Amino acid sequence: MFEGPVQRLIDELSRLPGIGGKTAQRLAFHLLTVEEADARRLASAIVDMRDQVGTCERCFNVASGELCVICRDARRDDTIVCVVERPQDIVVVERTQEFRGRYHVLGGSLSPINGIGPGQLRFEELKQRLGPEGISELIVATNPTIEGDATAMYIAREFKPLGLRVTRLASGLPVGGDLDYADELTLGRALTGRSEL
Ligand SMILES: [Zn+2]
Repeated sequence: MFEGPVQRLIDELSRLPGIGGKTAQRLAFHLLTVEEADARRLASAIVDMRDQVGTCERCFNVASGELCVICRDARRDDTIVCVVERPQDIVVVERTQEFRGRYHVLGGSLSPINGIGPGQLRFEELKQRLGPEGISELIVATNPTIEGDATAMYIAREFKPLGLRVTRLASGLPVGGDLDYADELTLGRALTGRSEL
């Protein structure tokens, strides 16, 4: 329908989450009218991110070196670890400014229907961190979904016998939603009012 390169960009854009065909078209034609330098900056931001960003060796957050910004910060409390499903959940908890510990990214939540069992998530990696880092409390911040609940229960079952305090964000979070739908205030309260698992 359009010139080859235009159609190619529309196809690529419409593969992104939340972007339908019409939006992809609008964005492509917009990029055709901006300064060439602006278009190149966008293109190189994508390429640079893919080239330079990997995974933190310790907590599996996104990182541009061996360790992420949070693991590199010596002022943070080693003894409390907030367990999340995905790296973007860290951003949500950080926005509350209520948490000064460290994180552990599981890589998802338990979902037997989708073939995701404990072996597919980073529980073993978390166990390896306990002793060397002197971790004494885990705050489970999985999504308030069935899978998130199941994951929280699993963590309590596996880690409490190891002598850890295991807590979960207090309710008040929108049930069934993603953590990032919660506003800072709600999440901040959920963090201070966390309950034992
Ligand atoms: Zn890290």
